[in-house]
Amino acid sequence: MNATTKIPFIDLKAQRLRLNGAIEASVQKVIEHGQFIMGPEVREFETALEEYTGAANVISCANGTDAISLALMALDIQPGEVVFVPAFTFAATAEAVALLGAIPYFVDVDEATFLISHESLKRSILDAKKKGLPIRGIIAVDLFGSIPDYQELAQLAKENNLFVIADAAQSIGGSRGNKQVGVFADITTTSFFPSKPLGAYGDGGAVLTSDNEIADKIKSLRVHGKGRDKYDNVVIGMNSRLDTIQAAILLEKLRILPEEITARQKVANSYIQSLPKSFLLQEVHKTVTSAWAQFTTRTTNRGQLCDGLKELGIPTAVYYPTPLNKLQAYKHYPHDPNGLASSEKLASEVFSLPMSPYLTEEDQVQVINFFEKIIKLL
Ligand SMILES: *Cc1c(COP(=O)(O)O)cnc(C)c1O
Repeated sequence: MNATTKIPFIDLKAQRLRLNGAIEASVQKVIEHGQFIMGPEVREFETALEEYTGAANVISCANGTDAISLALMALDIQPGEVVFVPAFTFAATAEAVALLGAIPYFVDVDEATFLISHESLKRSILDAKKKGLPIRGIIAVDLFGSIPDYQELAQLAKENNLFVIADAAQSIGGSRGNKQVGVFADITTTSFFPSKPLGAYGDGGAVLTSDNEIADKIKSLRVHGKGRDKYDNVVIGMNSRLDTIQAAILLEKLRILPEEITARQKVANSYIQSLPKSFLLQEVHKTVTSAWAQFTTRTTNRGQLCDGLKELGIPTAVYYPTPLNKLQAYKHYPHDPNGLASSEKLASEVFSLPMSPYLTEEDQVQVINFFEKIIKLL
């Protein structure tokens, strides 16, 4: 039986089949018109994403990491300035800060929600101030598709004269209250890496903001800091544009994103209802519709459990095995004076189950059955 079980961790093929030639046709169109850089599909996609998210400006770029760099550059971040980032996230969140010579200051996450901890953030801000560090901003991360309380973050940011960037690489399509991801922070950044909820067939990213001045700066920064044109360079910028072919693909995928978010929620609900209650899950606030980039649970017996599931044909993945403060490249940066216990605990316990809008009911039942079978053996 296990020889025939093959459940995909993320099912991109089912999505392509569902789109039934639309992607191939849109790529063909770009090949024929030949405007591979900043062709008409780029602006068309940006406009579609503005309409969908409610963000006044969407500026696409080459990837989600560049999106964070562009946001920081538009906010004129300077070397030595401090930006608070959660320790439990993908390295790119802190990398963009460090690459500009600024200082990523690691804040703990809340153990239940996996999102930046308000208490740790408050403590870290106080600590940085006490040390006389020039504090500038906060990057919160919508980890696995869930969304922190940005109102609360905005209040704390205001009291301390800090900007807030939302790293929404994993949450496009999600919502909190009656608002879509893209409007919660001063600047929101996202990624179209293939496995993200809205994925291209290659790299891609975007910056979303209601601030027209910041939007104009980013439009310049993504094309070598251009002024009137790209040979009139007014600031040091980057070469960071979304390929026209990727924009054409994303336009087709954006059309079905709302349905896919609903389908992901169904899969998540079935996991939530059926998994043994002893397994702690990521707690999602009741007003949040997560984009469920990952469905993540926890165990102190991760190695054995994941090996057992793998043998039965159920793939799992660990996001993320090491908190950023323990990575060689980042361990010298400052962190919450009380330590980062939740980030460290989560990194040692979390693992994610197959998640896709196209995971069939049989596959879901299979995952849950095998899960129960393995834990009895442990
Ligand atoms: C994927 C991801 C990024 C980086 O996006 P890329 O497009 O791969 O550069 C940044 N932050 C988080 C939280 C991510 O998951």
